[in-house]
Amino acid sequence: MPDSPERPQPLGGNEMPRFAGPATMMRLPSRDSAADLDACFLGVPLDIGTSNRPGARYGPREIRSESVLLRPYNMATRAAPFDSLHVADLGDVPINTFNLADSVRIIEEAYRALLLHDCVPLTLGGDHTIALPILRAMREKHGPIGMVHVDAHTDTSEAMFGEAVTHGTPFRRAVEEGLLDPARVVQIGLRGTGYHTDDFDWPRTQGFRVVPAEECWHISLAPLMGEVREQLGSGPVYISFDIDGIDPAYAGGTGTPEFGGLTTIQALEIIRGCRGLNVIGGDLVEVAPVYDTSGNTALLAANLLFEMLCILPGVEYR
Ligand code: MN
Ligand code: MN
Repeated sequence: MPDSPERPQPLGGNEMPRFAGPATMMRLPSRDSAADLDACFLGVPLDIGTSNRPGARYGPREIRSESVLLRPYNMATRAAPFDSLHVADLGDVPINTFNLADSVRIIEEAYRALLLHDCVPLTLGGDHTIALPILRAMREKHGPIGMVHVDAHTDTSEAMFGEAVTHGTPFRRAVEEGLLDPARVVQIGLRGTGYHTDDFDWPRTQGFRVVPAEECWHISLAPLMGEVREQLGSGPVYISFDIDGIDPAYAGGTGTPEFGGLTTIQALEIIRGCRGLNVIGGDLVEVAPVYDTSGNTALLAANLLFEMLCILPGVEYR
């Protein structure tokens, strides 16, 4: 499909060497506004909500850097997102790195402005705190939201060090504030050590489906995703993908790694299994490049964001 102003293609590797040219996501055009866009990538370079290793503030920049290797067509699913959607890179949200509460306010306002347009945001994080203000803006537009949440952690702690808003608490707050439709939420990949043996029970009591990593070991997740599609139905769905859901053997460049995690193949099965759902947005969070010596974590993150783009409503398959 030829390049057009209505639906620009990513800058190709035969037009400009992949290691050169603009540093946008997939070398897409850079835009200031979501007007006329069907979907966009944007970064939220926040890591002052982290509890252990910091560094996710560099996630958006590094994911964009590794994304230069991505080509426009999905060879497995035959998705051709840029032939059917107008997609661009909206840059980064200018968070206040000296103030978490102010940053959360800035993020919510940025997404409210973005969502005035019919543009589906795919966010490059940033730590998982950012999901809370994004869901607040999403809730205002779409009503209570279903969610596919991939993570080693539930992120439903009551508080951390007495703080209500951190990267370990966003989905507790989201339930309390009525942002989520708990019967339409699934959490996949949970594992590791807890503060109490009942840490994974709170989301279950809310009505979430909880799928610990052990239930994913050695198997295809395609059947699980069939059940997830039935559970989530036709209502709005947000995909929140914490890269630490994946085993640190593949994605060690993150702040709170946990062993015994999902494989990269299972990550593809989860996102491809969201095809057919009414996906209204997604994020890929917790990439901390300073621990990512091979670049594989950011490269995986870039690929998973592309896979999210490929399953959005309206994408053509050829
Ligand atoms: Mn998380
Ligand atoms: Mn996590």
